[in-house]
Amino acid sequence: MYHHPGSVAQQAAGSATGLLAPKGPDSDAILFQRCTWCGTAMFHRLLCPVCRGSELRTERSEGTGTVRHSTVVHRNTPAARNVSLIEMSEGFVVRGRVMGPPIGIHSGDRVRLSTAKDPVRGEPVFQLLDEPYRAWS
Ligand SMILES: [Zn+2]
Repeated sequence: MYHHPGSVAQQAAGSATGLLAPKGPDSDAILFQRCTWCGTAMFHRLLCPVCRGSELRTERSEGTGTVRHSTVVHRNTPAARNVSLIEMSEGFVVRGRVMGPPIGIHSGDRVRLSTAKDPVRGEPVFQLLDEPYRAWS
């Protein structure tokens, strides 16, 4: 008398019908490159900016970072929006948008990735981790 583990049967059925992974694995994460020579993290580079190495491997960011620069843009848009440079915790910098009132975003604010690719502009969108007006040191 023996019985089959149910989990194995369910996994086999799921992969056979293609029900696993309904969306692409990259839709909610920023992929970046890390130099295999010196370990420097970078974004959309072909050569390492530090050692000029060309052996880069792709890694996935955990999605948290800090605002390094933020600018309010009024051009070509009905409403003001901000364009920010975000230094990710892995050490590379990406350009994206932070949700919330444009004037409420400052250098040093901590943010978390909300959407890796804005459907309209194709740029990453972040949300603030802290309240915009809280003073912290
Ligand atoms: Zn390098």
